[in-house]
Amino acid sequence: MQRKGKKMASSLSRRFFLLLTSGSTLAARAAGMLRPASAGVRGPTREPSGDCANLFPGLPASQEGLASGTGGQQAVSPGRSGAAAATRWQRSADRKREMTRDVVWTSHEPLYFLRRRGGDQFDDEAEIYERMYDPENLKRMAAAGVRCGLLHFYKGFGLEYERSQIERTRRAADLMHQLGMKVSLYIAGTMFIETLYREVPGAEHWEQRDQDNHWVSYGMQTYRRYACPNEPAYREYLKLILRMGVEELHADEIAFDNLMLQPEPKSCRCPRCIQAFREFLQRRYPTQEAVARRFGLPDVESIQVNEWDPSQAPPSGVTVLNDPVLQEWVRFRCESLASHANVLSVYVKSLNPDVSVHMNIKGLYSFNRYWTNAVYHPLFASHVDVISFDTGGYEARLDPVTGALVSQIRSYKVARLLPSSCAESLEDELRTATHMAFNYPVPVPGYAGAPYYHGANHVFTPLLEFFREYNDRYYTSTESVADVAMLLNWPSMAYSINATWVPTTLMEQVLIQYKIPFDILFDEQLDRLGQYAAVILADQECVSRAQANALLKYVQDGGTLLLTSNTAEYNEWRQKRHSNPLLPARREGKGRIMYIPHIVPAMRRTPNPPGDELNPEPGATLVRGHAMRPSEWVLPQNHREIYQAVVEGLPEGPSVTTEAPLTTVMELVNRPKTRETIVHFINFDQNSLPPFRAGVRKQFPGPIKSVMCFSPDVDDPVGVKSQESGGQVSFVVPSTRLYSMLVIAHE
Ligand SMILES: [Zn+2]
Repeated sequence: MQRKGKKMASSLSRRFFLLLTSGSTLAARAAGMLRPASAGVRGPTREPSGDCANLFPGLPASQEGLASGTGGQQAVSPGRSGAAAATRWQRSADRKREMTRDVVWTSHEPLYFLRRRGGDQFDDEAEIYERMYDPENLKRMAAAGVRCGLLHFYKGFGLEYERSQIERTRRAADLMHQLGMKVSLYIAGTMFIETLYREVPGAEHWEQRDQDNHWVSYGMQTYRRYACPNEPAYREYLKLILRMGVEELHADEIAFDNLMLQPEPKSCRCPRCIQAFREFLQRRYPTQEAVARRFGLPDVESIQVNEWDPSQAPPSGVTVLNDPVLQEWVRFRCESLASHANVLSVYVKSLNPDVSVHMNIKGLYSFNRYWTNAVYHPLFASHVDVISFDTGGYEARLDPVTGALVSQIRSYKVARLLPSSCAESLEDELRTATHMAFNYPVPVPGYAGAPYYHGANHVFTPLLEFFREYNDRYYTSTESVADVAMLLNWPSMAYSINATWVPTTLMEQVLIQYKIPFDILFDEQLDRLGQYAAVILADQECVSRAQANALLKYVQDGGTLLLTSNTAEYNEWRQKRHSNPLLPARREGKGRIMYIPHIVPAMRRTPNPPGDELNPEPGATLVRGHAMRPSEWVLPQNHREIYQAVVEGLPEGPSVTTEAPLTTVMELVNRPKTRETIVHFINFDQNSLPPFRAGVRKQFPGPIKSVMCFSPDVDDPVGVKSQESGGQVSFVVPSTRLYSMLVIAHE
């Protein structure tokens, strides 16, 4: 009984949103649960380094060093604690694991949902749920220092049907608050037709309708249907529930799930959407002349949204969006989804601005999610406090087959500028270290703080204990330092199904692995251009005249523009230009434009695999379109030349230089209130890094007080000898197994 309870808990927490969508089988859950809570300590074993260049044709010799590691961070081998066994972090983790041995961790799913869905549950699930709500269970959590729990609140079955469960959640939330814990309430985003439609007359009219006037379901769960994002009555219904959550259950956070639309041919074409689309077009093209120039039609009323004929032109055959109506349609869908979510977010904040708003909109991956799922992150800016990415296939690793360094680093970078925190499973060390280095902890009172949040609240590892110790002191109130911005502009990324995403991903990969501090910018953030020494447009084929002018102004003022391949060959409607306003490469004003003809992929692209590897929400999206697999994120063949060009484009050089290998990543932040510069290094290789030299450009005036190295493998930080010259601080980073944090303090 206890064993099962523990299993349940571990699994639910491990893939907290993923579970409901999934995907994941009972066997997988059981396997996950059998792992000790210390899972994530990387295994001691390592396959002998093979000649991967031979194993993987197309992998250049320069990648050998990358490919030689097995990477397999997924390997769990508690025996490897080795050096860490005696640390205070290990002792603390052991103690808390012991204290929480019998705890049933709270779940975002109600029992009736598990029953209706079937699968992924044990035969004594009801007893497990009883134990979950036992006050003694919650007290044990609090005693071990757990500060936050995610509780199920509204799944979509209907408020009346769920009321008794909500009452139970209310009692648990009250007790958790008394015990000093924060409470996150989960709200799913689909309608369960068997109960809701009986309970709420007219709810069936909230449904999305595809081109055949057919409902749109949650994958195979056809009893769960998506509501139209343009249906106000559905939002009003959700507001009733939100008010209850905030005012009666005193939620610290509201966690919205299922915030995505379905790919073509399943996009909603209900009368509401068609009307809203026409109004959207009218706003963008207010005159007859504008409509005629854009669409070749007399007025927006005449516009018909393209439909799909699976026998002639299935959506999976689309590689580029040249059709002006489809170009507008993809934007309209993104705005519809974001507007729906943002109205709810504004409502929550109007009830209590301290409540954190969590949205499961996932991160940035190497395929067009604007087109696939209508998720365009900048539209959520300042309305989302936490983004979760419960995606399959993106686990941090050196891919054991290709050597690709896979991480969610680009998602973290997108989130920081929104600004938003990220929610991530912290059960394995490499993901945790990435989270520590790259997550932005949003300063909203309802947010529990990264080392106490959903992905972390049940994880007691030496690394998490280290994180908890230092969180408030070193991981909060930081500002990223970036020399370079990658500009991902709307038309280039939105109108290309895959072609633009590959070079963009590979360029980001070069910046990540060469440890160039960078940000990812979208059109909405062009006003930040001046903050960067260089701006990169990697195959951004569609650049409007206005954007080209802004970029040229940036160059004239002293910036470096680094362009690749076909950048700016088209305008923002993807019409070919006779002459490119940004090329040829040249000096202009105080700055310069540089050009790299081609980012040469090192791997031949392979067809999409069957199964869920690329699935943004396993089980929920049947059609995914083309996607670059994370295992294909192998550095491009000309990665050295690209790196050299980037460095050449930085008049003062990069803010950080290091001799750490390409299997190490770095994040650079300032902490103004303590006058500290913090450099995080994460070693993705299984082998420890020998000591390496690093140089950091001074970020604050005044002499250096100290440079300290913090490692989860030793009890206390060690002082590092440093030298200062020419505005640079140089030092040697001690040997690093997984993670080192260097803190440069100024007088
Ligand atoms: Zn609709």
